Formats: sequence, C-alpha cells, structure tokens
Amino acid sequence: GQCSAHCPVGAIYEKDETKRLLEAIRDPDKHVAVQIAPAVRVALGEAFDLPAGEITTGKIYAALRRLGVDAVFDTNFAADLTIMEEGTELVERLTKGNGEIPLITSCCPSWVDYMEKYYDDMIPHFSTAKSPMMMQGVLTKTYYAESKGLSSKEIFSAAIMPCTAKKFECSRDVNMFASGEQDVDVSLTTRELARMIKSSGIDFHSLSDEDADAPIGAYTGAGTIFGATGGVMEAALRTAHYLVTGNEHAGITFEDVRGMDGVRSAEVQVGDTTLRVAIAHGIANVRDLMNQLREAKAAGQEPPFHFIEVMACRGGCISGGGQPYATSSDETREQRIAGIYKDDEKSEFRCSHHNPFIKKVYDDFLGAPNGKKAHELLHTHYTPRPLYKK
Ligand code: SF4
Repeated sequence: GQCSAHCPVGAIYEKDETKRLLEAIRDPDKHVAVQIAPAVRVALGEAFDLPAGEITTGKIYAALRRLGVDAVFDTNFAADLTIMEEGTELVERLTKGNGEIPLITSCCPSWVDYMEKYYDDMIPHFSTAKSPMMMQGVLTKTYYAESKGLSSKEIFSAAIMPCTAKKFECSRDVNMFASGEQDVDVSLTTRELARMIKSSGIDFHSLSDEDADAPIGAYTGAGTIFGATGGVMEAALRTAHYLVTGNEHAGITFEDVRGMDGVRSAEVQVGDTTLRVAIAHGIANVRDLMNQLREAKAAGQEPPFHFIEVMACRGGCISGGGQPYATSSDETREQRIAGIYKDDEKSEFRCSHHNPFIKKVYDDFLGAPNGKKAHELLHTHYTPRPLYKK
C-alpha cells in the first residue's frame, strides 16, 4: 500500500522498472504487449495537471504506442474474464457444494500475502481465480501469441498498475509461469508510466484518443469498476444472477455495495438464494471481518456471508501505492471513484458475460469457465507462510 510510496526517509521505494520496459521496446526480437489496470485511467491525468477522476484511457493507449509498444491491451478485459471464472466458482460452491463458503476474492496481492501469513485458515475460502493482471498476462503469451505466430519467449508482457505489490505478484509462485515463461515480465506503477511519458517528450495533452488492440483489449463497465472498493462484488453480482438462473438481473447497478464505509454488507436475491455479501477495504477493516468469520466458524454457526470482496487499500485500487501522490484525502479517492463509475455508465456493455470477446476467447481457446484449460492457465493456489515466532 501507501507505505512504499510515502516512506519518510526514502529507504523503502518502488523498484524502478522503466528501464526494463524500454530495453524490451528497443529489442528487435521482442514483441512488446502492455496492459493497463482499471484504476490507472482515472489517476494518470493527475501527473499532467488534469483533475482526479478524469478518464484518460484513449490517451494512455496512444502514449504507449508513441513509446513504441507493439500491442496495447486492457486489464479490464481480464477483469471480465475473472468474473466469469470467479462467478462460476461461486455458483459451484453455492449450488454443488464444491468448496467452502464464503468465497473470498484474491485479486489483491497485498491481501493474499497478508492472508497467507496471518489468516492461513482462510485458504480454502480463497478464490483460486488469478488476478486480472495475471490472466491478461497468460492470455497474452498463449492465445494472443499463437494468433501472431509467435512463441511465448518472443513476447514481452508488461502491466501498468496502481499498485506496488503487483511487482511481487508477477513471480509469486510457479502458477505465474503458466505459459512456460513469466506471464507478466514486469509490472510498472502509474507513476512510472507518467515518468516515461514525460521523459520521452510526449505531449500527453495533445494526444488523440486511440482504442486498445483486439481481441483481448475490449472490456465492459463491469471490468472497469474493479478499480473501486465494491466494484469486484458489483461486477460479480451482475453476472452471478445470469449464471445461476439463466436470466438477466432486472437492474444493472447494485448501489448497496458502493461507498466508503470500511465494511459494508448487503443481501441480494439470486434465484432461490438470498446471497449475503460483504466488502472490506483497508487492512484494519479486513482484520475485523476475518475475525468475525473465524468466530462464527469456531461457534459452529452458519457463515455470515456467502461472498466477500477484500482490498488492502482504502477505497480500493484507485488509491494504490503506485498512484500519483494525492491520496492522503478521501476527496481525491472519491473523485477517482466517480471517474470509474462514469466510465462504467458510458460503456456499451456493462456485464462481463456480455463481452463478445470474452465469449470468443472461451469458444476459440479456453473452453468452459472453470474447465480444464481455464484451470491450468487462469487459476492458482495458496500456501501458508506463518511468521517466525520465538
Ligand atoms: Fe494493490 Fe491496493 Fe489494489 Fe490491493 S487494493 S491490488 S494493494 S492497489
């Protein structure tokens, strides 16, 4: 989170990896593909004196191409894919008893690290779905590489993230090498991308909007809202109803899961089930919620929730430790969150299962959600890593 960005003596600092990306761009034998995370598009503008929450997606794609990358993708596409995988996992656990309830989200690497150290009894509750960044990386080095007639070795895959913990996630275990290579070679922060754009002399303001590359660049509003606290939950709810009942939910939005309260809960009717969901952001709030779960378990009670979203940073990824330095106030957080929901509202598709390119990638390549190939490429596992105690 924020500590790496705000260490008062500069002893802890983000590892600068802009050189690695620039070297790959200069290497004629490398095909460089870059993805950008949901939260980057509503914050990068601040480095160029635009207001917090200003959506600069099209300019970011254009800037990456001016820097010389070969393909520009969007992590939001893989956020849609995460919803298909995690939503199916939730439905399997709920309706077929295939796994523990509640299901807890695992796309925040700080939370994964914390859980493996302090709450390893929660491992069976964790979604095995990889984070959107890792799903995008493995598809880049398999599905996309094959479509270009390239091997995974010839692709350099980079990610622009709001997060310093994502740098560690790229190589956290063997599952992050599912293509045979490291699926995401390097993860850069929003600040590092801003520095690259500035130092290469690109006039960010004068760039015209461009689109991401097909077929793993197009996304729905559900993918975008991953950047805000409650967003993964809302995106999952938009699709869970369809997965359980085969029918669309009457409304698109779930206002009850939005907001800045540290722990929020809601009940949502999905078919015959009243789904109890909870959201926690900021690690102290996460701890309170996990302790509540532990107590219910120890007392042999029914789990208080079916599905839980956890983000280590207050407000979610929009205030990650790799974002422009302005998130000491909730005002900036709320402006960025407003940008996220504005982007969702203007999206042509707002449910992950409506993304035509998601359907295509399952038809062409992956098979069924949670199927054999999807499991090999898109899922991971967790290991208890207890702290040394005297
Ligand atoms: Fe990273 Fe914070 Fe988002 Fe977690 S919540 S993935 S630590 S930016």
